Amino acid sequence: MSIKVQSVRGMNDLLPSETHWWQAMERAIHHVAAIYGYEEIRLPLLERTELFKRSIGEETDIVEKEMYTFLDNRGDSLTLRPEATASCVRACIQHGLINRSKARLWYMGPMFRYERPQKGRYRQFHQFGIEAFGWTTPDIDAEIILVAHALWQQLNIAEHAQLEINSIGTPEARQRFRADLVSYFGNYRDSLDQDSQRRLVTNPLRILDSKNPNMQEIIEEAPVMTDYLDSESAARFDRLCNLLASQDIGFTINHRLVRGLDYYTDTVFEWTTNLLGAQNAICGGGRYDGLVELLGGGPIPGAGFAMGLERLIEVLRQSNYDAELARPQVYVCTLGSDAEVEGLNLAQELRAEGIRTTVHCGGGKLSQQLKNADRASAVLGVIIGADEITSRTAIVKSLRTDAEQQSVVRSEIVETIQGMLHSKQ
Ligand code: ATP
Ligand code: MG
Repeated sequence: MSIKVQSVRGMNDLLPSETHWWQAMERAIHHVAAIYGYEEIRLPLLERTELFKRSIGEETDIVEKEMYTFLDNRGDSLTLRPEATASCVRACIQHGLINRSKARLWYMGPMFRYERPQKGRYRQFHQFGIEAFGWTTPDIDAEIILVAHALWQQLNIAEHAQLEINSIGTPEARQRFRADLVSYFGNYRDSLDQDSQRRLVTNPLRILDSKNPNMQEIIEEAPVMTDYLDSESAARFDRLCNLLASQDIGFTINHRLVRGLDYYTDTVFEWTTNLLGAQNAICGGGRYDGLVELLGGGPIPGAGFAMGLERLIEVLRQSNYDAELARPQVYVCTLGSDAEVEGLNLAQELRAEGIRTTVHCGGGKLSQQLKNADRASAVLGVIIGADEITSRTAIVKSLRTDAEQQSVVRSEIVETIQGMLHSKQ
């Protein structure tokens, strides 16, 4: 007996029962990106390992332990992308997209991180992200947040998404903050958990992110980044808050929000939801003014976000979002070869009107055909047999209600079906 090959742990198939949710979400994403004037960029899944090491930072969770890295046949080190901002910046530099002009871009696709699979956390997952290059002013920070908010509205989940924002200032200000954090947490070295003791040396800001309840009291009393901001960063943050308020975007300022990647500067933000439990972050982003230069481009500022789409789908499910199902609206049953042709003609007319129509294939008894129609969850059945061919009619039958079937003349079928679908018969 041969052994069945299974999928890789943490890498999921998306089955037809789920993909209609994804399609509804993707339609909303395409729409929102378009009305805000963002253009799509498609990037490879595989990049040189150094791209991520340099941009995300050697001392981050992602680079330390989450990357899928391997040597190719030539011995070059390649990595499956754990996120796409670095790739996007690489592509913009490589193709000269942002030297002389500004750019508003978006991307969507799979990302790969070697994490412990659990609800809301997978090894292959998907992100939608946007990036804006070339603006130093906080108006673009506000715009980026507005794009995420527009998507929540488009998907009817705005009430389930909460925004937290913070400023982590310039690299210089952060350096001073970092030094004070190290001496503060150093006083409590023995009370720190293992992760935090390690971070004290590698990435002390991340200690603020710790979810360990035993650490919260110490973290509560730690120095606050806001006190270290220079006047320019402070003014930028104020302006961002004002712009968000002017558009009625609710937010809370979270002084502990630092985000996991090294390249952020000034504005950082996160959208969380009350519907998901532990893995509740659905979108994270901010400004990254040094990243383009770090990767070999000019001194071009950037800002953007990345959204976790598996988590967003889960929010849609929890909030009873009405994703338009892929099930057929009409199922056409035919008996005999003339009826088969007539059924095909009718199906093409219905499809031309945008009605999802399945034609029964493979012949068989009418009762069997109708059973198939039912299994496909079709809304209406159409039956054409020899009698209908003679009388130039078809039988239209509601498959979801007890309404009586009716015989409709051929020329009125499309209109009748449109009317019935409209009234959800
Ligand atoms: P978390 O704190 O949950 O690990 P993160 O800070 O690592 O998130 P980002 O790198 O900011 O996440 O990615 C943006 C979004 O991508 C997250 O808010 C989340 O919705 C989603 N995401 C990140 N990692 C995963 C994963 N392993 N599986 C599913 N979604 C993920
Ligand atoms: Mg993570």
